[in-house]
Amino acid sequence: MQPCAIAIHGGAGTLVKGMMTPEKERGYKKALEIALERGYFVLEQGGTATEAVMQAVMELEDSPLFNAGKGSVFTADGTHEMDAAIMEGNTLNAGAVSLVTGIKNPIVLARDVMEKSEHVFLAGEGAMKFASSLDYSLLDESYFYDALRFQQWQELKGTDAFQLDHSSKKDSKFGTVGAVACDLHGNLAAATSTGGMTNKRFGRIGDSPVLGAGNYANNKTCAVSCTGSGEFFIRGVVAYDVSCLMEYKGLTLNEAAREVIEKRLLDIGGDGGLIAVDVHGNISMPFNTEGMYRASKTSFGDQTVQIYSN
Ligand code: ASP
Repeated sequence: MQPCAIAIHGGAGTLVKGMMTPEKERGYKKALEIALERGYFVLEQGGTATEAVMQAVMELEDSPLFNAGKGSVFTADGTHEMDAAIMEGNTLNAGAVSLVTGIKNPIVLARDVMEKSEHVFLAGEGAMKFASSLDYSLLDESYFYDALRFQQWQELKGTDAFQLDHSSKKDSKFGTVGAVACDLHGNLAAATSTGGMTNKRFGRIGDSPVLGAGNYANNKTCAVSCTGSGEFFIRGVVAYDVSCLMEYKGLTLNEAAREVIEKRLLDIGGDGGLIAVDVHGNISMPFNTEGMYRASKTSFGDQTVQIYSN
């Protein structure tokens, strides 16, 4: 019988364990678990992988704990510019948006690009015009305000530095969100959503909305969602590289994912991780940082919710 499986992440980074209280840790794990269950419920009911990753990512976007949607980091101008992408493995259909502002769930806009436009990737002003053509309501900046994110920005404001929201040594947690799923029909999907990096400037776009870099799905191989230093993930074409190693070199999902994160990405100086699933319901969640917020559930009965390495 065709299995179903889902994996989600809430960002990789140098998570300093001593700075995480047991209570906070429980809060993050609970938020991951809720998103995981919301996505898995769709799969269990026979729903599509696309719908499952949408539901999981929307849940994470609505949580202030993660750097996407509500919890997005501050740009150098004190605003929030969000990126998101979704891709389906059976058709290779995809939609992506970048530099969008005031949108509650950027992943929904990315899906609308996939389903309601002739295009794949809309950015900035154009993406906002597209949202307005579909009558999206825009939220005030205050919806996206978070005291910790504001403080992280204050530490970098006025400098040229930009960073992963979870790489601060002071209180390091949160991150980009993503989900990958395999449904009972044997189809894969991947979705990723992010606020990017704190203090980013000049219309900076990370890997998350770039197909093949931070997000990719292909039924022939796998569905992948990445998190980490986006510039390196773009240069390493990380998500597609995992797929290529499976397709052209015959590596298993886990071999391919680990080769890319533990070797190829490190070789070019990149840090982060990814979650991946194949049509057999196998899941791989490698990272080369101290931790990665992650969770997974399969119809084989496995379930995990983890932050640090084992
Ligand atoms: N990869 C994201 C970016 O570079 C950041 C993250 O994973 O938190 O925009």
